[in-house]
Amino acid sequence: MFGMGKIIAVANQKGGVGKTTSVINLTAALGKSRKKCLLVDIDSQGNSTSGLGVNKREVKTSTYDILTGDARASQAIIKTEFKNVDLIPSSIDLAAAEIELVEIQERTLKLRQALAAVRDDYDYILIDCPPSMGLVTLNAFSACDGVIVPIQCEYYALEGLSQLMATIRQVKRLYNPVIELEGILLTMYDGRLKLTEQVQEEVKNHFPDKIYQTVIPRNVRLSEAPSFGMPAIYFDKNSRGAKAYLSLAKEFLKKNREEK
Ligand code: ATP
Ligand code: MG
Repeated sequence: MFGMGKIIAVANQKGGVGKTTSVINLTAALGKSRKKCLLVDIDSQGNSTSGLGVNKREVKTSTYDILTGDARASQAIIKTEFKNVDLIPSSIDLAAAEIELVEIQERTLKLRQALAAVRDDYDYILIDCPPSMGLVTLNAFSACDGVIVPIQCEYYALEGLSQLMATIRQVKRLYNPVIELEGILLTMYDGRLKLTEQVQEEVKNHFPDKIYQTVIPRNVRLSEAPSFGMPAIYFDKNSRGAKAYLSLAKEFLKKNREEK
């Protein structure tokens, strides 16, 4: 499909739940399935920028310049080494955007306005959100069609989830009528732990038609790949983690075909 890229924000205000790992590998897997993809890194940590082999310190134009209105999306797009994956990188400056945006008009719509101009060039645009619910994340929610929420299977996994859902409802009412929960993804799954099963059951009860059947196992190759600047599906495509993300991409695409 070309002509109207679907925009997906990957978000959870909880830190370290697998947002970046999921964005990098899902985007790379979609790219391998011949979908033209753009990854937009709006986290000042820049983990998905470096995880795709781009040196954060050498970035000239970043999502910071887009949010402040100083650059167009097309000026910031970089081709990566990975098939069908383009990137709008983050930079350290982005840490200041949260404060600077307060002064800017239409402060929640900057990303949406910028992505509108490149949307037709892609099948999917995925946004890696920071672990917070500030104006930067609100920009992603105002711009997107769907939100994928990674949840780490551990204590307090569901903490903050109802707040996140409330935020999505509020964004829908105020800024973006099309936003939907796209899916909930269980990450760092360890089948040996009873707790993991409990979290899975609980999420299934709350969101029966939103939870992905694919669960992402805890797998060391997923955590090693970023230091080589590669998605795990390139770094070690036979690892359990890589296989899980390849299967997630299949499930994601199937779901999106059915909904069209
Ligand atoms: P932040 O909120 O800081 O942006 P995040 O939600 O983007 O974090 P990640 O950076 O993807 O989370 O993951 C946190 C850490 O856990 C990283 O070191 C990552 O390599 C590791 N990790 C993520 N998923 C897995 C997994 N399935 N198995 C093993 N390690 C993982
Ligand atoms: Mg991250």
